[in-house]
Amino acid sequence: MTVVVRFAPSPTGYLHAGNARIALVNGLFARAQSGRFILRLDDTDRARVKPEYVAAIAEDLHWLGLDWRQDDELRQSDRLAHYEHAIARLRAAGRLYPCYETASELEAKRRIQTAAHRPPVYDRAALKLTESDRARLESEGRKPHFRFMLQHRRVGFDDLVRGPIEIDEASQSDPVLVKEDGTVLYTLASVVDDIDMAVTHVIRGEDHITNTGTQIQLFEALGATVPAFAHLSLLLGADGQPLSKRLDALSLRNLRAAGTEPLALDALLARLGTGAPVEPVTAIEELVAGFDLARFGKAPARFDPAELTALSARTLGVMPFENAGPRLAALGLDEASEAFWLAVRSNLARLDDAKDWWAVCRGPLAPIMEDAVFTEAAAAALPPEPWDNAIWGAWTKALGASSGRKGKALFHPLRLALTARGDGPAMADLLPLIGRARAEKRLRGETA
Ligand code: GLU
Repeated sequence: MTVVVRFAPSPTGYLHAGNARIALVNGLFARAQSGRFILRLDDTDRARVKPEYVAAIAEDLHWLGLDWRQDDELRQSDRLAHYEHAIARLRAAGRLYPCYETASELEAKRRIQTAAHRPPVYDRAALKLTESDRARLESEGRKPHFRFMLQHRRVGFDDLVRGPIEIDEASQSDPVLVKEDGTVLYTLASVVDDIDMAVTHVIRGEDHITNTGTQIQLFEALGATVPAFAHLSLLLGADGQPLSKRLDALSLRNLRAAGTEPLALDALLARLGTGAPVEPVTAIEELVAGFDLARFGKAPARFDPAELTALSARTLGVMPFENAGPRLAALGLDEASEAFWLAVRSNLARLDDAKDWWAVCRGPLAPIMEDAVFTEAAAAALPPEPWDNAIWGAWTKALGASSGRKGKALFHPLRLALTARGDGPAMADLLPLIGRARAEKRLRGETA
């Protein structure tokens, strides 16, 4: 059996860290099982869907490192005929029935039930309508919406994250699957798609657990095999509060603009809530090895943007030049060498910071003169080129012996003159990149 998963966002906003976690877990699970990953856009809510969100979803997922075949990308708005077919089947089987109550009539019923301390479950009054009642209502201009007749029983499933779950369907209202205007709602469209795409594992957020009993009944009513379900706990902020208020700041667009490394986000989201250590990775494949849904816990996982920022820097710190090179070139640093990258990568909060170190290596840079007499003498003692990264050690050892300086008194004035910064990458690595001519000028106080 080929594993088939799907990530099914609604294009009614930009993807955020919470969505990204669901997408990533689906993607990693598919790769770990040599399965297929489908991107499905749940775009039937025409009033809320926007084209810019549609375009952004694929772009943001690719940024995250996820991939899928072109024909594994589908939109519910292209599949309306399939839903009509399922609707006809459910109606023929007596599982979908027309209802005519208006929203305010339903609200009035709920108020009466609540006042009488009864659960506000739809009373199925529409089932009692005769043919002529319906004709009369329609002649008054009412259009039907359609509800799915639930079997009032307990529906159980073995959640791959949360273990056995039972839902008492007697306590649920028969769900509306088709609105008055003919719009097919998510609950039905999702099941029809999952059947048609032969989805084997539905991995999504725990906010969908309550839908699952109904969806299982729908799979069964449509004569299909029920997939496995896995419901991931929700993400909370570092303070334990829901992320909902910060979703804009945590949109993938904004995280990218803030210089977040996508592999850092992957490494964090793949591990949050699993108890496994969060470590920087150099490729998404490292997260696939040993990926196991069963490691995710039931407790809400905390997402700390500060942890992401720190992990992003650590991710740059282990990034091989073959990955960094093209991105440096895109920043205009097309002459940046592997030696440059290896020298600076552990000193970057974000990749763009490499530009500062490039300017340090190539100038022009105004030196900071802490001790002009000493650095002038140091300039005169610079060894001839060619230079490698043993030069710094040899040069400063000789300077230490001649000046009697050591430690900070020896190194700090040199670093300030050569880089105009108090700290940064190892000087042994930087000095050959700066080169003798530039180093000599800076040590004499000249901009170079
Ligand atoms: N469009 C739904 C959502 O964004 C999909 C839920 C599902 O995966 O079934 O929550």
